[in-house]
Amino acid sequence: MLSYKHIYHAGNFADVHKHLILIALLKYLQQDPRPYTYIDTHSGSGIYDLSSAEANKTSEYLDGIEAIKSSKDPAIIEYLSLIYELNNAKSTRYYPGSPEIATMLARSDDIMHFCELHNNEFKLLQNNYRKFKNVFVHHHNGFEGLLSLCPPKIRRGLVLIDPSYEIKSDYEEVAQTVIKAHKKWPEAIFAIWYPMLKAKRHEEMIKAVNKLPGVVISDLVICKPDEVRGMYGTGMIIVNTPEELIGEIGVIEDALNEIYCW
Ligand code: SAM
Repeated sequence: MLSYKHIYHAGNFADVHKHLILIALLKYLQQDPRPYTYIDTHSGSGIYDLSSAEANKTSEYLDGIEAIKSSKDPAIIEYLSLIYELNNAKSTRYYPGSPEIATMLARSDDIMHFCELHNNEFKLLQNNYRKFKNVFVHHHNGFEGLLSLCPPKIRRGLVLIDPSYEIKSDYEEVAQTVIKAHKKWPEAIFAIWYPMLKAKRHEEMIKAVNKLPGVVISDLVICKPDEVRGMYGTGMIIVNTPEELIGEIGVIEDALNEIYCW
């Protein structure tokens, strides 16, 4: 039984970090005119209303997206302009999740697959993207979905793996799935999100995935593990990281470190 709902966390500091890296990876793929395949294994619903009662129960977005609004960093300015475009105003009320970012940036021949297991989230996701002819929405387990889609016909591409880690075994499942998917689709870039929690389960996952080529870890530690009840940081593991992006990822990290880290 899944209980996680991303609306309670949408636009928090972890989303900001993850989505800035997602944008950098998609923009990198778009430097080449040939189309790409994008697979999002844990999509959520796509768009989140930050004025909703759920988002304001935790108000995590106040220390996330709201805190970066006056940044002068070019990647952050570009990300904010995408959010303003979604809102048709200089507002962050409607916050774009990973499927929305991917569809907003996609060109007409790029192919997108979104997997979501939760019934209600799936319905919202399906509804949000039913008009897009190059988007395929799957009511399916994202780990199995990824393996069945690998390798896609268009082999340039990116996979975002962004589980809620409700089940402890998710960490091991992520690592094993990425290793198998990389065997089937070695050209793909894989971007894996993980929370940094006191139990430090992400460390084993990083160790397992580190054997793959071009691994870059981008993390953001906002405080000491004992100083908070939840996440003390957030991270992304990128496999087959384009060399040209390593500097850009560092610049994003520095900009966010300055804003978020105590
Ligand atoms: N990627 C989204 C974004 O950046 O906007 C957020 C995704 S949220 C962290 C994780 C989502 O995965 C939740 O909507 C949850 O219902 C879904 N989920 C949990 N287990 C899943 C599974 N095995 N396969 C697919 N979706 C799953």
